Amino acid sequence: MLKKKTHKTVCSYCGVGCGILVDVDHKGKIEVDGDPEYPSNKGMLCSKGRNLNYVAQDTSDRIMHPEMRWSRNHPLQKVSWDTAFERAAAVFKSIIAKHGPDSVGFYVSGQCLTEEYYLVNKITKGFIGTNNVDTNSRLCMSSAVVGYKKALGEDSVPISYEDIELADCFLIAGANPAWCHPILYRRLEKHKEENPNVKIIVVDPRKTQTCASADLHLQILPGTDVILFNAIARWLIEKKKIDKNFIKKHTSNFDACKESAFTLSLRQAAEKCGVPIADIRKAAQYIGDANKFISMWTMGLNQSVIGVSKNVSLLNLSLLTGQIGKPGCGPFSLTGQPNAMGGREVGGMASLLAAHKDLGNPQHRKEVSDFWGGKEIKSEPGYTATEMFDALESGKLKAIWIICTNPAVSMPNVKKVEKALKNAAFVVVQDISHNSETTKFADLLLPAAGWLEKEGTMTNSERRISYLPKVIDAPGEALPDAEILWRFAQAMGYEGFDYNNASEVYDEHCLLTKGTNIDITGLSHERLKNEGSFQWPVPHKTHPGTPRLFTDFNFHTNDKRAHFNAPQSLYNKSEETDIDFPLVLNTGRVRDQWHTRTKTGKVKRLLTHIPQPYLEMNKVDAYLRKLKEGDVAVIKSRRGEVQVKVKINFDIRERVVFLPMHWGKVLNNDFGRANNLTNDLVDPVSKEPDFKYCAVQVEKFVKP
Ligand code: SF4
Repeated sequence: MLKKKTHKTVCSYCGVGCGILVDVDHKGKIEVDGDPEYPSNKGMLCSKGRNLNYVAQDTSDRIMHPEMRWSRNHPLQKVSWDTAFERAAAVFKSIIAKHGPDSVGFYVSGQCLTEEYYLVNKITKGFIGTNNVDTNSRLCMSSAVVGYKKALGEDSVPISYEDIELADCFLIAGANPAWCHPILYRRLEKHKEENPNVKIIVVDPRKTQTCASADLHLQILPGTDVILFNAIARWLIEKKKIDKNFIKKHTSNFDACKESAFTLSLRQAAEKCGVPIADIRKAAQYIGDANKFISMWTMGLNQSVIGVSKNVSLLNLSLLTGQIGKPGCGPFSLTGQPNAMGGREVGGMASLLAAHKDLGNPQHRKEVSDFWGGKEIKSEPGYTATEMFDALESGKLKAIWIICTNPAVSMPNVKKVEKALKNAAFVVVQDISHNSETTKFADLLLPAAGWLEKEGTMTNSERRISYLPKVIDAPGEALPDAEILWRFAQAMGYEGFDYNNASEVYDEHCLLTKGTNIDITGLSHERLKNEGSFQWPVPHKTHPGTPRLFTDFNFHTNDKRAHFNAPQSLYNKSEETDIDFPLVLNTGRVRDQWHTRTKTGKVKRLLTHIPQPYLEMNKVDAYLRKLKEGDVAVIKSRRGEVQVKVKINFDIRERVVFLPMHWGKVLNNDFGRANNLTNDLVDPVSKEPDFKYCAVQVEKFVKP
């Protein structure tokens, strides 16, 4: 009997990064299961991961060949890879020669493997000579990146999942891990079941599924997180529940934190946040009494015009209590995408440089450009995600190359993005499937290999780097993204892109990290294949990896101390509500869908949970609008309109509504697309958009 072959890999969805066993039988049939030996998930998988075999085997929607149009009015036509590379290089060279290197840009994804992310950064920053390379991670984690750098001197998640089982108090803010990071949440839930004294505080304007395990739910008004964290800080200081020794020896700028925390009294803070003062005291007491305290957060803090202020004010709580650098404690941002962390390691944003080096530091720029042997790297950051589409709209950016992301659904104020893509002189879309709404804007469409069809590495939320093997052949003429990129670089005439495989790209990336705080010179594809996953840094070939950072309390700032930061803004400076748009719209994820549904949307089983977009609203708001459960409502903002059915409950605050972000077109119209409504305001430092706050009106749909 022919045996199945089993391969070890990692889930391609969220940043929990669960280990997966993939069985392939002699007919090519694929089955998946959780890897019991993988430390992050210990054999568990959520509904999305468990159904990945359907996604991997369904090639019905795949892009099979390069396709090109000779002009905007012509349809896409099948071409050879040689023709595709020749055209891409010719157009890029011509635009760069005429308008300069800053007239082109790349917009990539936290789903790219580290090798792909590395190459696209090398091409743009090192050879084209522009920093116009940004990623959809800008839409989710860039406020956390800035917060970590300000507080710890490095974009570093200091702890591991194993710290969850050691902690006795959790503050989960702006996150719904029960749905969005299910396996991580399952570990937390089990820990709480086994240790009822463990305290869980949830901060969210909605009563989400995560609240089921919470001892305390602070259902704050949208945008008031900084005021809440400051109030907790004030209580900790007043009640002397701070770690004075740690603050004195290992931190700086405490006075600025204190001054900010004392701006409002607890009573004023409670009024602003819309929660009882007793609940703020209770939360602070839980944190102050904890032996081991962990804060967890995601988009509710990051996706805001004051995202950096929210991050630093939360990080201040870990520093005040000295809860960092020891087992079972620390701040813990949860990444939304499988390799958002890997992208940050290779400098995969317009404001970052490879190997966590500093784009603003001339010495660092020289080190990287000397290593690559290309052009001098520019000091000014390139266009960030929203800036890139603004520049396309205004004509400053002429060509854009989009890899593995679907901005025609995922970007804020998305109608503007569609206009920008129509206005572009040249759009390259490199993706696996026609399901992405962005493919229709392509002048050149490049078929990429998908999960299981290419090799490379990814880093999950706990800095754990894993190797993903090639298990099956890609359909049609699809190529690994890394190969597409190095062949484009060769077509451009750039030196230093004569790779034979992704392993060589990885070796180069590892070498560039030598001597840095993320040194992974001890890693290679071979070692990861043979010995399993490692948490960075891994500075030599027998190094076991690093579960926790800052255990010596030497932070990566200039003075080696962790820095308290006063939030720049206490108040949300987002779009105002008024008589025409009196409600605040919050957008987010549901349990069984992921991003813009290009993969999860084609798995029937995942559609049984929530098959259609919906608007969640409070009963009082629904009553005022004569809306009943299941009625179709029209949601209008200053930018556009959405029509979906309503779900009515008391789980969401009055005057706040929630719409899932996943849906693009439903029944050939875009009436479920949340980003028809959202605004494109961004945090002034992190440039992360404000997906959690826009002013809307809701009315009952009346047939015309
Ligand atoms: Fe995949 Fe995340 Fe689910 Fe794990 S929790 S199986 S990484 S989607």
